[in-house]
Amino acid sequence: MLAPVVIPHYIAGERTAAGDARTTAVYNPATGEQTGRLPLATAAEVDAAVRAARAAFPAWSVTPPLKRARVLFKLREILEQRAGELAAAITAEHGKTHSDALGEVQRGIEVVEFACGIPQLLKGEVTENVGSAVDSHSLRQPLGVVAGITPFNFPAMVPLWMFPIAIACGNCFVLKPSERDPSPSLLLADWLAEAGLPPGVFNVVHGDKAAVDAILAHPDIAAVSFVGSTPIARYIYATGCAAGKRVQALGGAKNHMIVMPDADLDQAADALLGAGYGSAGERCMAISVAVAVGDETADKLAARLAPRVAALKIGRGDLEGMDMGPLITGAHRDKVRGYVDLGVEEGAELVVDGRGHRVAGCEDGFFLGGCLFDHVRPDMRIYREEIFGPVLSLMRVGSYDEALALVNAHEYGNGVALFTRDGDAARDFVQRVQVGMVGINVPIPVPMAFHSFGGWKASLFGDHHVYGPEGVRFYTRLKTVTTRWPTSIRAGAQFVMPHT
Ligand code: NAD
Repeated sequence: MLAPVVIPHYIAGERTAAGDARTTAVYNPATGEQTGRLPLATAAEVDAAVRAARAAFPAWSVTPPLKRARVLFKLREILEQRAGELAAAITAEHGKTHSDALGEVQRGIEVVEFACGIPQLLKGEVTENVGSAVDSHSLRQPLGVVAGITPFNFPAMVPLWMFPIAIACGNCFVLKPSERDPSPSLLLADWLAEAGLPPGVFNVVHGDKAAVDAILAHPDIAAVSFVGSTPIARYIYATGCAAGKRVQALGGAKNHMIVMPDADLDQAADALLGAGYGSAGERCMAISVAVAVGDETADKLAARLAPRVAALKIGRGDLEGMDMGPLITGAHRDKVRGYVDLGVEEGAELVVDGRGHRVAGCEDGFFLGGCLFDHVRPDMRIYREEIFGPVLSLMRVGSYDEALALVNAHEYGNGVALFTRDGDAARDFVQRVQVGMVGINVPIPVPMAFHSFGGWKASLFGDHHVYGPEGVRFYTRLKTVTTRWPTSIRAGAQFVMPHT
């Protein structure tokens, strides 16, 4: 076994290894081997990154948007060329399959492409003659130093949701990636430098709660974007806002897919398999609850799903042909397995039990087989709580209205899908469902880069969704200028307020 690599911070354009820092282990979840040792930043290291960002801000913020966009055009080219390298870095520390990691990179590239249009996106509004010979125009200016705190499940894509738009708008960025899979963020830092980004505009500090708290308390950080679990999102929002920062904090999810009796059930089953078990269920837009309208629909769905869940190809993400890889850590695998035990105790029917699944040659990996519950009820904890693993719950309701009420009563409101052939039901659903991202015959309705991503209720704290036009609004402040060039130069002094 190779010695674990020390994974450095990236501050002011340099990879910097912290001296006597606290550290944490980084694993390859497929083998269970420790591959990295990660320094956990102190407040002083966070401050060093913020100072680097603050020093870079005056020049970067007045660099013409066209030139800032050119750096992103170049980054886009590099990402296209080296998508495989980035995907391999994701798989090595996250465990997801290589092809799924390539998909993650592609979604990130699309945000870079959107940010390349920043000269157009920053255009303000003008009104001539808001008063006699008075004109108004509005402009959007960058905030200063902004920070991103990101989760383990998309170690490249979620940072890419944030920093391309933030820096395109003229801000400088401090990223605190997940301590579970930190290496992809360093590739992004290197490639940004190669693309021509000046030192200090993008910085990476690794760490845990201590680093996050230092970010939240830092007086020179103007805004914080967070993506992670709901309890931490709530904490980030409350603490960041109390410190006077602008905060967007995206939290957890429990995404339902309602299957109507008229839906194409083969298509619905395919959708549930991919959306439920892809990336081992560790996606905030994963479908974790299938709601079948009518027992007949439920029986047919269960019959289609069960053999395929039992036959999922589970193994190392760097092997061809796998459907899913391991979970992120041994502790998380045990937590998910604990939820499966709980579901059995609560009286749900465990149709497929993946708890004993073993992957030959990877006995120490953090694997869990796909699990399928039927007859799950709303009062069960396996329904109310986010499990974040390869566990799908099938629920049975008597009507469309009951299904809609179930979704609307849930604490979370990230994504939802309705499978039907009925346009009227679909239209009613779109109008009445209390969820931020809605799919009609689309299981994972992640908005494209030129729209914006965000849930409702306990899935998002703050006023702005991420990326797309909302991202531009989040990372800029509106300034409105009213201009008058007095006629007094030509006509002499005025002593009364204009009233006509
Ligand atoms: P997490 O909340 O444990 O960690 C997210 C970030 O917060 C990490 O950078 C971590 O270092 C930091 N953190 C952890 N504990 C902290 C604490 N006590 N105080 C301050 N900071 C802390 O989330 P995770 O396990 O990395 O990611 C999975 C979660 O993220 C799931 O709940 C998932 O639904 C959610 N998620 C949501 C979205 C979305 O768009 N809504 C997207 C991806 C993931």
